[in-house]
Amino acid sequence: MPTESTFLLAGLFILLAIAGWALGRFGDRDEPEAPPPLNIDYLKGLNFLLNEQTDQALEHFLKMVRVDDKTIETHFALGSLFRRRGEVDRAIRIHQNIIARPDLAADQRDQALYSLARDYQAAGLLDRAENLFARLAEGSRYQVQSLEHLCRIYEQEKDWEKAIDAGHQLEQIGGRSLALQIAHYYCELAEAAAADNDYAAARSFVKKAQTGRPRTLRGALTRAHIARAMNDTSTALSLYNRIINEHTYLIAEALPEIVAIYSSEGKLDELDKAIRAMIEDDETMSTLVAYTSIINDLGGIPAIDEAVEQYVLNEPTLSEFVDLERLATGLGAEQGTMEKIRRALSKLAASTPRYQCQECGFSSQRLLWQCPSCRSWETQRPARRVQFDTVLQHSITSR
Ligand SMILES: [Zn+2]
Repeated sequence: MPTESTFLLAGLFILLAIAGWALGRFGDRDEPEAPPPLNIDYLKGLNFLLNEQTDQALEHFLKMVRVDDKTIETHFALGSLFRRRGEVDRAIRIHQNIIARPDLAADQRDQALYSLARDYQAAGLLDRAENLFARLAEGSRYQVQSLEHLCRIYEQEKDWEKAIDAGHQLEQIGGRSLALQIAHYYCELAEAAAADNDYAAARSFVKKAQTGRPRTLRGALTRAHIARAMNDTSTALSLYNRIINEHTYLIAEALPEIVAIYSSEGKLDELDKAIRAMIEDDETMSTLVAYTSIINDLGGIPAIDEAVEQYVLNEPTLSEFVDLERLATGLGAEQGTMEKIRRALSKLAASTPRYQCQECGFSSQRLLWQCPSCRSWETQRPARRVQFDTVLQHSITSR
C-alpha cells in the first residue's frame, strides 16, 4: 500500500509535471524545442512511485531531469524527502546529480553541497560530511548551519579540541554565546586527561571551562574528583562544600563522595551541620537528599536519616501499605519497620531511571551531561522521588 511519503513524492512529481507544462505553455517562446503540454516523462515517474517502484522512479528521474532554475527547488525537495524517509543513498544520488551540472550557479552549488553533507551525516559518513561542512563554513550562506553540524560531528567523534574551535567560530559568526556548551567541551577534555592521570592538563582544562558565563558546576565537580584522585582532600572538600552551599541538583552526584571523605576524615559532625543548614535554608533539598541517600544507601548521619524518615512519612503511595501514623512515633518495632522500608525503597529505586532530560524526557540510570536524544547540554535532572508507578508497571509487565 502506498505510504504517506509515497504520496508526498508523488505530489512532487505532479509539481514537476505542472512546472514542465507551465514551461511549455508560458515559457520562452523563442525556444524551438519547448516541452509539450504535461510532460509524459513526469507521469511515467509518478506511475512508478504510485506502484512503489522507487528505484525505477529514481533512475527515470535522474535520466530525464534537466536541472534549471525553474525546477531545481523541486529536485532539492525530492532529495530531502528521500533523506527524511531514511533512503539516504537515493538522496545522495539526487544531490550528486545536481552538483554534476556544469551550469550551476554558485549559490545553488552551495545548497547542493550542504544537502549532500547532510546526507553523508545521516548515512554516518562523518569524514565526508565534515569535509563538506568545513568547506561551507569558510564562506557561504550555510556558514552558521555548517558550524552547528560540525559541532555535532565533533561531539559524536569526541574530538573536543575541534568542537571548541567550531564553537568559538559559531559564537563569532552567529552572534550568540555558546559558553555553556564550550565549557562542557573543556570538561570532557579535563575528564579524559584525568583518566590518563595527567592531572596538570586536567586542571588547566577545568580552568578554561570556568571562564565563560553561564558557568557550569560540572567544572567544580570535575575539579573535586581530580583533587580526590590526587589525595588532596581539603581542596576536594571545599569544592564539594561549594556544591552543597549552592543547593544544586548536583548534590545527587556529590553527596556519596562527600560522605566518604567526611567519614574517612572523622568529620561527620561537620557534614551533619552543613546538610542541616542547607535543608533549613531550602526545604526542597530535603527530598533530594533523602532520595540520593536511599539510592546510594547512605546513612548514620542524623540530618540525612531525618530527611529519609520525612520522605517515607510523606510518600502517599506508601500509606496504602504501611500505617504511617504509627510509624511516625518511631518507637521500638516501628524503628525496625522504617529500616526495612528504607532498604526496600533502595532496591526499588535501583530499578527505575534516576535522571530525566528536562527538554525531551529521555531518562537514564546515571547522569549524562549531554542528552543522547536531543543533544542538549546539562538538561538532565535527578528524580526526587522513587517512581512507584514505573516500578509497579514494570513488575506487572514482567510477570
Ligand atoms: Zn533530551
